[in-house]
Amino acid sequence: MKILIVNAGSSSLKYQLIDMADESTIAKGLVEKIGLENGKLKHKGNGKEFVVEKKIDNHVIATQMMLEALTDAEHGVVKSMDEIGAVDHRVLHGGAKFTESVIVNPEVEAAIEENIPLGPLHNPANLAGIRACREVMPNTPMVAVFDTAFHMTMPPKAYRYGVPKDYYTRLKVRRYGFHGTSHRYVAARIPEYLGKKPEKLRIINCHLGNGSSVCAINAGKCVDTSMGITPLEGLLMGTRCGSMDPAVVQYICNQDHIDVNQMLEICNKKSGLLGISGVSSDMREVWAAAKAGNEDAQTAIDMLAEGVRKYIGAYAAVMNGVDVISFTAGIGENDAELRARILTGFEYLGAKMDYEKNAVTRGIEADVSAADSKVKILVIPTNEELAIARDTLQLVTNA
Ligand code: ADP
Repeated sequence: MKILIVNAGSSSLKYQLIDMADESTIAKGLVEKIGLENGKLKHKGNGKEFVVEKKIDNHVIATQMMLEALTDAEHGVVKSMDEIGAVDHRVLHGGAKFTESVIVNPEVEAAIEENIPLGPLHNPANLAGIRACREVMPNTPMVAVFDTAFHMTMPPKAYRYGVPKDYYTRLKVRRYGFHGTSHRYVAARIPEYLGKKPEKLRIINCHLGNGSSVCAINAGKCVDTSMGITPLEGLLMGTRCGSMDPAVVQYICNQDHIDVNQMLEICNKKSGLLGISGVSSDMREVWAAAKAGNEDAQTAIDMLAEGVRKYIGAYAAVMNGVDVISFTAGIGENDAELRARILTGFEYLGAKMDYEKNAVTRGIEADVSAADSKVKILVIPTNEELAIARDTLQLVTNA
């Protein structure tokens, strides 16, 4: 079966077509700048690449462009959409309702809609993606996979915030957590990689990318994670500030006469590595500036590393120890220097890195722990699309 995975963001749409016979990627692409003047589709398939540049008004048009690219006579990879057995839609916020992928039905759609206030940028785009695909492929099963689902095993002591209970019962204010498909993929891959039973492993997984989060996984289940009611909480990220005293928001709003929505836009889009370094949200550019002597860039890197170190310490406490510390996503997989900086000084916890092996490990699965390290230190490239497609195959075949 061929499965199409669609990830609709607020102004973008990423897609990937996977052949489940051998789990290979047949085609992938990105539609960007939806709603702006200079929209763009980039499609790769059959070893070829092509680009379409035009104004793309909305997600329905973006979806049509994706489907045309997939079936294009010259560059396309399928003759008709009938070859596609299921379409998977990544949905940011499932609230507390969804603990796994589900086939989209009116009730699921209503729930995605209900959660728009919790994911105001993404959920409407996700819904638009689902509806646009259904218009073109009315008989193909649509599956929704929620970024929040993996974290629904957290206990109340991890997911509740210290505000009056009424906000939890009435407004569903709690920690939800994100990057669930990535954390779940890594949590499932580690026992396979080590040849151990998941029940025996306490894992701290560091997903460090543009968005970053740490997850404590005990016996295969999430017990705590750093992102919160939205992806803003936790680590310093590309453009997000991560955790801070909420009074900072009130103080800046009052001093600069801006409202809370404007301030949260700053917290989400202008802060983090970008805001601290003043250089870029891209870690490679921040490193380049830091090496050239830029102290703000150095501070940004120190803050990110220190943030991850604190979560490792905290989650070791949560699980009464740790057996595996793993790194994934763009920074986690590729940035050997940051990994080394994060793990220096954790010998007291039994985590000792093989710095030489770490230094040459980029974008591949590897055990970078020293031979006498009690804690395994692993680099595990994430493959969210494959994790999602495997779920869908199971769902659709069992339906
Ligand atoms: P997204 O959250 O958008 O999926 P990614 O997981 O692709 O993001 O991560 C993007 C981040 O990874 C960027 O900050 C980028 O600079 C960083 N990155 C990619 N390659 C390297 C590298 N070799 N060294 C350091 N950082 C890297």
